[in-house]
Amino acid sequence: MNEQIEAQLIKSYIDGGYWQDITLGDFLRDCARKWPKNIAVLDAMESLTYEELNKASDSIACYLAKLGIACGDRILFQMKNCVWHTATLFGIAKAGAIPIMALGAHRYKELLSFAQRANPVAFITNEIYQGFNYPALAKEVQLDAPSIRDVLTVSDMMRAAHEGNVLTAEQYAKRRPEFTDPCVLTCSGGSTNVPKLIPRRHTDYLYDAQTFAAFLDMKQSDVYLIALPASHNFVFGNPGVLGTLSLGATAVMCENPSPDEILPMIDEHRVTITALVPAVLSAMLDTLSWDDAYDTTCLRLLLVGGAVLEEQLARKTLQKFPGCLRQVFGTAEGINFCTSANDSDDIVVSCQGKPISPADKWRIVNEDLCEVAQGESGELIALGAYTIQHYYNAPEAEDSFTADGYYRTGDKAHVSAEGNLVVEGRVTEQINRGGEKVMPSEIEGYLAAFPGIEEVQVVGVADELLGQRVCVYLIGEPEQTPEQTPTPMQLNSYLANLGVAAHKSVDQVRSIDSWPLTSVGKINRKLLCEWAAS
Ligand code: AMP
Repeated sequence: MNEQIEAQLIKSYIDGGYWQDITLGDFLRDCARKWPKNIAVLDAMESLTYEELNKASDSIACYLAKLGIACGDRILFQMKNCVWHTATLFGIAKAGAIPIMALGAHRYKELLSFAQRANPVAFITNEIYQGFNYPALAKEVQLDAPSIRDVLTVSDMMRAAHEGNVLTAEQYAKRRPEFTDPCVLTCSGGSTNVPKLIPRRHTDYLYDAQTFAAFLDMKQSDVYLIALPASHNFVFGNPGVLGTLSLGATAVMCENPSPDEILPMIDEHRVTITALVPAVLSAMLDTLSWDDAYDTTCLRLLLVGGAVLEEQLARKTLQKFPGCLRQVFGTAEGINFCTSANDSDDIVVSCQGKPISPADKWRIVNEDLCEVAQGESGELIALGAYTIQHYYNAPEAEDSFTADGYYRTGDKAHVSAEGNLVVEGRVTEQINRGGEKVMPSEIEGYLAAFPGIEEVQVVGVADELLGQRVCVYLIGEPEQTPEQTPTPMQLNSYLANLGVAAHKSVDQVRSIDSWPLTSVGKINRKLLCEWAAS
């Protein structure tokens, strides 16, 4: 986008009072002053008050500074949900550095590509966790990403926090970034093969989280369960951890998004709010249908987003949790929509509501970027005080934005009669597998080299549990028998060996002799989807 337009937008957000001169570090210090003894964050093992969280992050910042991490340096960050996730992120912010928010499922391919984009100087990761050797993976990435000087683990962060070092006012001020600087680089769901990094600014991320918390009428008495990966934008800043901390409330870290961990935590900690993707919601409702051991009456808000929520599942949710469901449409790039407290059940089950900020602008447009009539389908584009105008170090992604700065979501949607957003799917071919995004062309690229595969097409197919599943169509070598068609398990272990994220899994494989073609001679992918669904 034109620098002049960007400068004008920034000025308008500052003049309009949307952006304050505040960083994540300032924010936590302020919270600790206001609510020192409130519990800020807890997990199955321990808890930190606001005062303790502030001190722990000071000490982590001192440790990072001692390692030579400078203001503006990037740090690859891949950590499980725990109190140290929060403490480390604030420690990084106070050191003036910028975390790259990798997910636990990311593997060599994704991590190396983040490293190549952002040249991180350190990699903070888990210990061996759930049978996976994260430090070994980090070292493997380090070999090919020479900018990474140090590989550090959760234990290093805990040790650093317990050293109790204090960041003096002078040290703090020296490392304090500008409020308009990036505070995190989150990972894009991806509309290209190479994952992109999203630079969210200190001020815009805080504005987003606080505006969302106000939209939901969150209060200090709320207890927010972080059930999805805490580095995901939906649970870190929408309103998530940041929105919770902005009120002096408590964030509860759940390690795995499975009902047998979520439900006991809701019951034990009297959780009032959580954010789930439809696949996790569905699993939770299933468990509740046969297991009544847990008291979930404390829940007052169930935020559901990340993928299309089928109406049937939405109605089932309302039966179990009357008045609690709020649909959320969110993107790590910014723009958030949400249904409102006073929406009827019929509205809540059928749309994703309205934007959370009066500064949000949005349109549904056709291929020529002209606005379509109400009710007509098109692509959702958005602009606002917390939506990015460019990706990090990705000039090739310019076409994700319009000339006047709107972010092109790639989502197909229409506006309902009541003026709400109704998301229908994607205008691009991205597959939404249980809330995780998979680009068919990326998987096709990897599988093209699988022994015995001559040609391959990957399509997303409607799936009751996942929303969409990944189906691979392949043409094998001429002498191949049907029995030699690889199974999903074989393809998945091949992908895992290549170092591809675990969530980019193949669910279904079909062998075919020749491709069905459209009238213009292109492979008829729509027909492939229909066949795979049948
Ligand atoms: P991410 O950047 O990983 O947060 O993913 C954002 C994308 O998730 C959006 O562009 C949509 O494709 C999808 N998404 C988010 N919320 C919803 C929703 N409520 N319904 C359908 N798709 C959604």
